[in-house]
Amino acid sequence: MPYHIALQQSQKKRILADIAIDTDGIIVPAAMLENWQQTLDLLSEIVDTPAALIMRVHQSDIEVFASSHSLGNPYKQHDKDSLGHGLYCETVMKECRELHIPNALKDKNWDKNPDIKLGMIAYCGLPLRWPDNTAFGTICMLDSKEHHYSKQFRSLLSRFQNGIEANLVTLFQQAKLQTHNQQLEQVVQQRTHELAELSVKLIREIETRTSTESSLEYHKSYDPLTGLPNRITLINSLSHMLEETHSKGNVSVLYVGLRNFKSINDSYGYLIGDKILTILSQRLQHYADENTFVARIAGAEFVIVQSHTSPHTQVNKLINQIINCCNTPFGVADFVITIPSSIGIAQASSDGIDASVLLQKAGAAMTISKAEGSAYNFFNQDVQAALRQRYQLESHLVDALNKNELSLHYQPFINLKTKAVIGAEALLRWHNPLLGNVSPDRFIALAERNGQIIDIGNFVLHTALSQAAKWCRALQHDFKIAINISPIQMRNPRFVEHIADLLALYQMPPTALELEITEGMLMQDEHLAHNAIQKLQALGIRISLDDFGTGYSSLSYLQKYSFDTLKIDRCFINKLEENEQDRELTKAIIAIGKKLNLEVIAEGVETLEQDAFIRNEECDLGQGYLYGKPITARQFEQEFIHKTEH
Ligand code: C2E
Ligand code: CA
Ligand code: CA
Repeated sequence: MPYHIALQQSQKKRILADIAIDTDGIIVPAAMLENWQQTLDLLSEIVDTPAALIMRVHQSDIEVFASSHSLGNPYKQHDKDSLGHGLYCETVMKECRELHIPNALKDKNWDKNPDIKLGMIAYCGLPLRWPDNTAFGTICMLDSKEHHYSKQFRSLLSRFQNGIEANLVTLFQQAKLQTHNQQLEQVVQQRTHELAELSVKLIREIETRTSTESSLEYHKSYDPLTGLPNRITLINSLSHMLEETHSKGNVSVLYVGLRNFKSINDSYGYLIGDKILTILSQRLQHYADENTFVARIAGAEFVIVQSHTSPHTQVNKLINQIINCCNTPFGVADFVITIPSSIGIAQASSDGIDASVLLQKAGAAMTISKAEGSAYNFFNQDVQAALRQRYQLESHLVDALNKNELSLHYQPFINLKTKAVIGAEALLRWHNPLLGNVSPDRFIALAERNGQIIDIGNFVLHTALSQAAKWCRALQHDFKIAINISPIQMRNPRFVEHIADLLALYQMPPTALELEITEGMLMQDEHLAHNAIQKLQALGIRISLDDFGTGYSSLSYLQKYSFDTLKIDRCFINKLEENEQDRELTKAIIAIGKKLNLEVIAEGVETLEQDAFIRNEECDLGQGYLYGKPITARQFEQEFIHKTEH
């Protein structure tokens, strides 16, 4: 019996019950703590409150886990207090809610609480929870004088709470995985004895074949890197499973694809790419049992097949388990790498009863899930139609550049104080005779996947820079051109030199160029992005953080990188009138930008009310249909350049 089957069998009986985690024992890594420290320093500075704290609760006491380095803060890291005598934070954790006490001395419920002895009479705090809903502690701010913490600062506190809880999810998943591995090791040890017996049989079997024969056989059936069954074995086993379960139950085929894996190999090297695939295959193997089969069928593509009696609940559970395997960050060498993944699901008998057909349909659902950036997708008629459309789009896009179908539109930014147009964002347009106008939201992601973004990105850089250089000369005063950059472009090791060459070619001052990057880019390639941003800024080029506020980590990126401009995403601006929380967040973002000396621009401004609001909050720049839609270079020139020309 081949070794892999023996090992699989030994794992069969393993019960993957939910693992309980002792959250009190989870250690917060120094780099994360450093991030939290910076968050607290920023919070106490922006809110102008002497103490901002992260508290961590233990069995019988509560500890100052991190404390802002601010004047007048009496709390030191690792200070402890016992529980059960009326601390503010205890109520926050017990009742799992915000507690806001502007002046405890005037509040008979709170006028005897222990923090008064330290001189702290104002308090505002929120709970911090682990994903299993046990308490981590609190994040809070305190003051020695009466302090009515404004809605704006309370929603900022809640934003920080979200960021820290997202970190706790990562730590929790890592701890879970570690426990998993330890348990697996125990099982393996227990089975060593059984395996020793098995190996006698194994040796006899091997002796019957020549060594070359058996190795050839092995490579025919298994993937040498991960030891998992390959595509051929998968198809055989799946066909067998389908025959067996045809009368009794259902079979689901889950096709897992890692997004942008090529870029991991490109930027970290193949050794690290291989290591990640091995770790992932080990994680997936945890779920292999007599009804579940795991295979690796291509570079970064795995397939999990499961037969089940109650398909709906079982497949949903399996999907969640696989998402968890993929989402848990991979620690390889000194890097912590996160790779987004997509899953496509096809099921027998509704989607077919043939192994190859099911595999192909699950693959199609995965492709669409990747394109949409969703975690998973079941195969259906929409998937089939979407796939056809995608191929059509892709085949036309290949020729778009050569056939001059691409062009740029320019949308003005205005200075909100003077109302003057001070620059423009270059936005790509594609008009195809058959497909009509195709939105960049549809084709940029496609071009990023098939590598065409490099040529398209170069077209954008050349066109926008040569155009902007003319406008800079015509206006004889500062004009700023903003260009969107894709992460794939930035991965080119010569990217910075290339930009410098283009600026020289078109005689553009570097300060007139602003590159817009998104948080997604920073998340994927932190070390590359860091280097490139620093070098670009050293040349005088401005860097703008686009779509700010849409991701969890936005705030921590502000600490890590020095941006020049912060671009508030239009999803905040377009709900300003009806949504109180968006108003508070927009105010907070503008306040943070000011505090960090960044230029703040609001995008997607469509109404006079939105304009009045951001103007009132002293936002620097505005962009949106209210001031001007994206238009051709010629229209832009007529409307904004000739009018202001000296
Ligand atoms: P983005 O960078 O956030 O660009 C702003 C988008 O908001 C543009 O959509 C613009 O037309 C739209 N917009 C501007 N003002 C308003 C408004 O008042 N209301 C509304 N509803 N929308 C407004 P567009 O041109 O469709 O571009 C979509 C996205 O495609 C861009 O989002 C950007 O991420 C990407 N993109 C566009 N051009 C390029 C390019 O040259 N290179 C790269 N890598 N990406 C590009
Ligand atoms: Ca942009
Ligand atoms: Ca944007």
